[in-house]
Amino acid sequence: MSRVEPIQKVSVVIPVFNEQQSLPVLITRTVAACRQLAQDYEIILVDDGSTDDSVALMTQAAEQPENQVIAVLLNRNYGQHSAIMAGFIQASGDLIITLDADLQNPPEEIPRLVSVAEEGYDVVGSVRAHRQDSWFRKFASRMINMMIQRATGKAMGDYGCMLRAYRRQVVDAMLHCHERSTFIPILANSFARRATEIEVAHAEREFGDSKYSLFKLINLMYDLVTCLTTTPLRLLSVVGSVIAISGFTLSVILVAMRLLLGPVWAADGVFTLFAVLFTFIGAQFVGMGLLGEYIGRIYNDVRARPRYFVQQVIGDRRPPAAQEEE
Ligand code: UDP
Ligand code: MG
Repeated sequence: MSRVEPIQKVSVVIPVFNEQQSLPVLITRTVAACRQLAQDYEIILVDDGSTDDSVALMTQAAEQPENQVIAVLLNRNYGQHSAIMAGFIQASGDLIITLDADLQNPPEEIPRLVSVAEEGYDVVGSVRAHRQDSWFRKFASRMINMMIQRATGKAMGDYGCMLRAYRRQVVDAMLHCHERSTFIPILANSFARRATEIEVAHAEREFGDSKYSLFKLINLMYDLVTCLTTTPLRLLSVVGSVIAISGFTLSVILVAMRLLLGPVWAADGVFTLFAVLFTFIGAQFVGMGLLGEYIGRIYNDVRARPRYFVQQVIGDRRPPAAQEEE
């Protein structure tokens, strides 16, 4: 295990999109939770183009210096994950905690996240203990979780919960990713050396409605999948190969049966037509998969994520000659 850096300052990043009803309670509770910390803290509220009174409330909170609140205003709605990224740029802490503004994740868990991170974890995630969401949302997120676990091999119980803590170096690495659409928890995981999860309470949304419409949710899911892998593109070739091989096998069987059992058996060539069709459809899929493979590579290059990520260099980096001069 690498050496554990002490945490001097904690930054809390909260994306806000039309949350005027929860903001006053959110700010009071978050400030109260942060005051319990032994470390310095700052609370960064990122307004994601709200059209209600959120901005006024945030500004008000930021103008009281004892709150340690910083308000970052975006000009329009960019989406939750972009808003969090905008907050990351402003954050100056060694440990950065993200939190939803709707109070579904209790801010009171912040000290616990910090103490777990201090044990030497780069990413501390959270699993919602008793989820208070509709069955549809639960089902959707279970599907997503399953997909992620299969694709990354990393067992992370709950990717939907944004109450998470990231070490400075993980956030820096994420800021070096210049792709437009990201899914932060997955990105963070790919840069983490040691990640863990704790169980946190989960409440029903008290004020307002979910800011995710079905369309936005689908969009998020695509962000998540493309952030994760280019496997879906490869799937095209696999599906195509299966179809082509079955088509080909079918034609071989047909020819054999035709020779053995005579022309009456072959139903005037209808089956043969199908066999030929399947073979060609399969071949087309394989072609598309091949194209997909190139597109996947182009995508990876365009995205230009850091190829690797050095967490720490231990020992003296100066050349031996310079060391001897001392
Ligand atoms: N949010 C945002 N921009 C958006 C949508 C949501 O900044 O376009 C914020 C929102 O204010 C909240 C968090 O992201 O703090 C999570 O949103 P929500 O609670 O609506 O999502 P859900 O809990 O339904 O997944
Ligand atoms: Mg919510």
